[in-house]
Amino acid sequence: MPSIGEKITTLNASIPNKVCLVAISKTKPIADIMQAYEVGQRIFGENKVQELVQKHEEMPKDIQWHMVGHLQTNKVKYIAPFIDLIHSVDSLKLLKEISKQGKKLNRVIQCLLQIRVASEDTKFGLSMEEANEILRESENCSFVSIKGIMGMATFTDDEQQIKREFKSLKTAFDTFKKSSTTMNILSMGMSGDYKIAIEEGSNMVRIGSTIFGNRNY
Ligand SMILES: *Cc1c(COP(=O)(O)O)cnc(C)c1O
Repeated sequence: MPSIGEKITTLNASIPNKVCLVAISKTKPIADIMQAYEVGQRIFGENKVQELVQKHEEMPKDIQWHMVGHLQTNKVKYIAPFIDLIHSVDSLKLLKEISKQGKKLNRVIQCLLQIRVASEDTKFGLSMEEANEILRESENCSFVSIKGIMGMATFTDDEQQIKREFKSLKTAFDTFKKSSTTMNILSMGMSGDYKIAIEEGSNMVRIGSTIFGNRNY
C-alpha cells in the first residue's frame, strides 16, 4: 500500500502543473494530514466549520484552508479570519454575510459560486440565473472577491453524463469570465471523476479518498 505521501506525489505527477490540487482532509486525523504536508501539500479542504477551525488551530500556519461544504450564515464568523477560499457560496445572503465578516476584519475573502449541474436532486448550488444575479450584487460587497465557480457532477458510472455536466460548468465559467475580472478558478473534479474534469478544463481538483483512503463517518 502506498503511503499518503506517495499518493500525493503520484497525483501531482499525473495532473498538469496548472491544475491546483486541494487535498480534502475531512474526517481525517491530523497525523494523516501531516503526512501530506510533509511532502509539500499546503492546500487542504474541509466541509465542517468546527473541524476546520480546530485543524487550523492545531496545524502549521502556512496551510491554506478551503471550505468545500455547505456553509451556514451564522458560522461564517468562525472561519472568516483565516479561510483562504470558500468554494460553496450558494446564496446572496451567505455572500453578504461573508462580506460583512470580511469588513470587520478588513480582510477580502475569496469565494467561488457553487453551481448546480448534476441531474440528481442536490440541495445546494445555484442555477446560472441565480449565479448571475449574485455576481451583479457582489459589486456591492467590497470584502469578497469572487474567484470562480465550483461544481459537482452526478455520482454515476455514466462517463458521458459526467462529461456533459463538466462541459456545462466550463461553459458557465467561460461566460462568467467575460463579465468579471477576478474569475480564474474552475473547481471541478473529485476522486472518481477528476481525470474527466481536467480534460474538460478544470484548474482545481478536490481529492479526498484517493489520497487518504475511504472515510468512516
Ligand atoms: C468530500 C468532498 C470531495 C472529495 O471527495 P472524494 O471523492 O473523497 O475525492 C470533493 N468535493 C467536495 C465538495 C466534497 O464534499
